[in-house]
Amino acid sequence: MLIRYEVPPIRPPTETYSMLIRATRGCPWNRCVFCNAYKGRKFELRPVEEIKEDILSMKRIEDEIREYAQKTGYGDMLREVAMVNGIPWIEDDGVKTAFLGDSNSLIMRTPELVEVVEFLRQTFPALERVTSYARAKTVRHKKMEELEEIRRAGLARLHVGLETGDDEILKYMNKGATAEEMIEAGRKAIEAGFELSEYVMPGLGGADRWEQHVEGTARVLNAINPHFIRLRSLWVIKGTPLYEKKEQGEFQVQSVEGLLMETRRLVEELDVASQLVVDDFSTNYYISGGDGKLPEDKGNILDNIDASLEYFRSRAEVESQR
Ligand code: SF4
Repeated sequence: MLIRYEVPPIRPPTETYSMLIRATRGCPWNRCVFCNAYKGRKFELRPVEEIKEDILSMKRIEDEIREYAQKTGYGDMLREVAMVNGIPWIEDDGVKTAFLGDSNSLIMRTPELVEVVEFLRQTFPALERVTSYARAKTVRHKKMEELEEIRRAGLARLHVGLETGDDEILKYMNKGATAEEMIEAGRKAIEAGFELSEYVMPGLGGADRWEQHVEGTARVLNAINPHFIRLRSLWVIKGTPLYEKKEQGEFQVQSVEGLLMETRRLVEELDVASQLVVDDFSTNYYISGGDGKLPEDKGNILDNIDASLEYFRSRAEVESQR
């Protein structure tokens, strides 16, 4: 029997080994000028029965791999057997983490989202964490009782794209939310009991507006105090409206030294109790040792940024002498 299920095209790096469930297709906003993740794709809500079918398909895969592992004498090495068979989301004692895509599962009607999450938890009782992307605007629009119901059903963590806390840049990037709305949504998610992960994009202010980018972002993050702050630096992608602005000279891409300086300033200005996650994203290649718990690891993170700054400055000096 052919087993079929859909998977979301992107997920956070922390969900690399999670079971990926496609609850919706595409992005209901799809207008941020730097993003091409779902360009040209129509947004669609998937019928609940179809999502449940996918979940059952994944359950059949888990059962089949377990049976095969036992039959071949590797019953205590389920993870390895699954990996060898191209399934990265099964641990030795079952499926532990799941991620709901695509870009904003919270846009689903609350009873339907609750039904999906409950079904997922019942089908995979070993699940310890279920997470999803969510737009701030959508979180803000949901009633508190709805958010609490979704949380109780078992969706534990929301990944929200803040990108910047500066209103002018939010507008320029067509993010579709203001800094105050970002604060309101973040606080509301935490109050409803979610673990909150806020994504920030170094470089989004370009070379001209980096200071206001940092100031606004630190202000918003300090007001929210999320559990996680994740940096994923801007990469201007061909085909996006931002790429056109860059080509026309309207948007000046931030230099590596500038990125390091703005990240340094951001870390300095953060007054939060959050886990800072930097090292798992490829566009943050210029920093090494940026991960840590704030505030206790702040000194160490700043030292690591300084070391990266020194490295890039000395490299630039050598190159200028060639
Ligand atoms: S909301 Fe997210 S996925 Fe949608 S366009 Fe903006 S950055 Fe891309």
